[in-house]
Amino acid sequence: MLRNIIHQLGYYLLKPFREHFIFMIVFFILVTFLLPAYEIVYNQLYINAIILSIHCFVLSFIVTLVIGLIKPKILRQIIQGFLLSALGVLFAISFYCIFVLGYLFDSDVAQLVLGTDINEAKEFASVMIPKWAIFTVSFFFLILAVLWYLSTHYNLNLGKLPSKIALGITCLCILVNIDCWTIWQDGPINFIKQFFYYQVPDDLYSHYTHPNITFSSEQQGVNNIILIIGESFARSHSSLYGYDKMTNPYLENLRDSSMLFVIDSIDSPAPSTALSLKYMLSLYNRDDSIANKQWFDFTSIIELMQCCGYDCFWFGNQAKGSRHNSSSRLFAEACQHQQFLQQEGGDKFNTNFDKILVDSSFNYVSHLNPEQKHFIIYHMMGSHFDFCMRYPQEYSKFSEIEYADSPQEHRSILASYDNSILYNDYIVSLIMDLYKNKDAIIIYLPDHGQVMYRDPNEPDFFAHASEKDPKQYALGIEIPFLIYASPLYQERHPDVVERIKYRQNHTKVWNSENLPYLIMDLIGVKEVDGVAVKPKSLLN
Ligand SMILES: [Zn+2]
Repeated sequence: MLRNIIHQLGYYLLKPFREHFIFMIVFFILVTFLLPAYEIVYNQLYINAIILSIHCFVLSFIVTLVIGLIKPKILRQIIQGFLLSALGVLFAISFYCIFVLGYLFDSDVAQLVLGTDINEAKEFASVMIPKWAIFTVSFFFLILAVLWYLSTHYNLNLGKLPSKIALGITCLCILVNIDCWTIWQDGPINFIKQFFYYQVPDDLYSHYTHPNITFSSEQQGVNNIILIIGESFARSHSSLYGYDKMTNPYLENLRDSSMLFVIDSIDSPAPSTALSLKYMLSLYNRDDSIANKQWFDFTSIIELMQCCGYDCFWFGNQAKGSRHNSSSRLFAEACQHQQFLQQEGGDKFNTNFDKILVDSSFNYVSHLNPEQKHFIIYHMMGSHFDFCMRYPQEYSKFSEIEYADSPQEHRSILASYDNSILYNDYIVSLIMDLYKNKDAIIIYLPDHGQVMYRDPNEPDFFAHASEKDPKQYALGIEIPFLIYASPLYQERHPDVVERIKYRQNHTKVWNSENLPYLIMDLIGVKEVDGVAVKPKSLLN
């Protein structure tokens, strides 16, 4: 009886090697190859890589074992085919993340895969999938397909004795896996979890935290706070910061008439839009990324302003997207009023220049109630790729000839980028002009910078920085940071203006993830939920 049971058990345990060996191997390769590869290449954690491979092997064995029990054969083959195809797709995505973007697949990439704002996904696809990556992945798939094909024509399974040896090795692997059980957290299960655990709130309102806000007694608030969120503006391309081409003539005028203050040494919290906005517009910050809370469980700037009695209006010229793929939409929808000015759809439909932001808000701004407090946000298309789509013909001032020092293939991109910055300069100054007769303070900052061929290790790369390379990352988060104070504001709040001037002349390393604290500081808030505002404010 016992002998019989052991015999049966042995038969089933040997099945993966004797009948489904190629499936198990292909499954193992797809599931394993990239995770340990990442550990080795980027973290030099060789032991971890080995343990992770063992974990993947055990997982492949278990999956093959279970699938081997499925009958009839045709159903089993369908499930096997489906599993391998799904893994193939994940493999391609993960390959791209690790070797092109430089980081492991996570829920932020899952977000990109599931849709993102359409523009950014297209930008990724058009600029950031190099041919070598497509070639390598295709070649890899070809090898696996040949292997699979051969297995259907020849018996590539293991024989009796090799199967027993393999089972013995597998048992050892299971023991190692049990001993290092925490490796599950880094394994493929985690990879797939990112898709399902990527949480999207229906709205921010249901996640409001009802913060406890204490006002400081000495400072009086301001009626109109305006936040202009730009797009992909590299500080090094601004003439306000010493760029040799005149890309910011209008804003330089405002600076020269002492209405605009130019702050240096500011970084954005991430080199991409969706992530950066989450940090910039809420109390969520990079240290919280490991905490169990999601970004939307943190107090948003919209809620903070509403708590302080501000009426919030969002004018957006970026695609609205769905709730699943656009954090800007969630922030916008939390405002009491919002206008999405860009049409939905792909890049080719996103043809509204940012001037539409000025035209659409003109009426509203002209009739602002001086007794009420307003927080108005402009979300610009700015210098979003494709740069040449971001400005009308008359702003096509820079042309290839002016970039003779750069390689031929960079010149048209550089020229169109600078033209988009020049047009951006015009639009930002027009928005500031709308408020020149009001008690208003305006902050302009882009969501992040852009590499623009400055990385010596990747001289042909101009897009959003990758996080794999700290040097490139540092280039991708350098942003301009501007504060406009209207004459009336300067008259009413001379103390704040002094602090801004001081910061203009004495730079401080500051990350725009602390933007909510600067805004709280400007409206006279002392503490939010017991956290002092001033130490995190730019002006302190
Ligand atoms: Zn962006």
